[in-house]
Amino acid sequence: MTDNDISIRSIQHYLYCPHRWGLIEIDCAWTENYYVTKSDIMHERVHETGTYSSRAKKVYTAVSIYNDLPEYRLYGVADCLEINKGLYSLVEYKPTKPKTLDYNHDDLMQVFAQKICTDHVFGCVCEGYIYYADVKKRIKLPLCEEYAKYDRELKDLLAKMRENKKRGIIPPIRKGQKCSGCSMKDLCMPKLKKSKNLKDSIIELLENEE
Ligand code: SF4
Repeated sequence: MTDNDISIRSIQHYLYCPHRWGLIEIDCAWTENYYVTKSDIMHERVHETGTYSSRAKKVYTAVSIYNDLPEYRLYGVADCLEINKGLYSLVEYKPTKPKTLDYNHDDLMQVFAQKICTDHVFGCVCEGYIYYADVKKRIKLPLCEEYAKYDRELKDLLAKMRENKKRGIIPPIRKGQKCSGCSMKDLCMPKLKKSKNLKDSIIELLENEE
């Protein structure tokens, strides 16, 4: 592995909030909260490496995957890979289904990055699904149908991440960034950073603490 390699997990961090990615990757900061812990517990269950078979279907959990082509240089672990009569399917486990959507775009891109690695390792053309634990439902993602679009997006994203990493840049907080549920909120202090007069904000914060 080289400094140029990118983990699939860090793609998800970047998509959720580029500033958060920078705090983790450049500043080496990390804090956890309820959402992170809940998701980790769920993934721990899935991430015990194993193989299960039922009739024609084989199910592999915690599958290590990579793509070492220069345009990707990606690696990670897929929650679950099913092989059924020669058809490969990735299944990513999520604790909670989004309220108004079938899936979040960030989650789709995470599974797409897994697909790029899985297709490379196994020489297949796999489908991708998200399984939501709260509603016990599996949703199919349009990874093959929209392959060219997501591939372009992934390559652009990887180029941006590499450039920022090389130059040690923590991207600024995005306009309209949603912070509720972010485990890094206390460390990041987004309101303070967005404030025009940082000095006044720090003084106000200190005064409130007294
Ligand atoms: S608190 Fe908001 S701006 Fe800061 S890292 Fe989290 S999501 Fe990003």
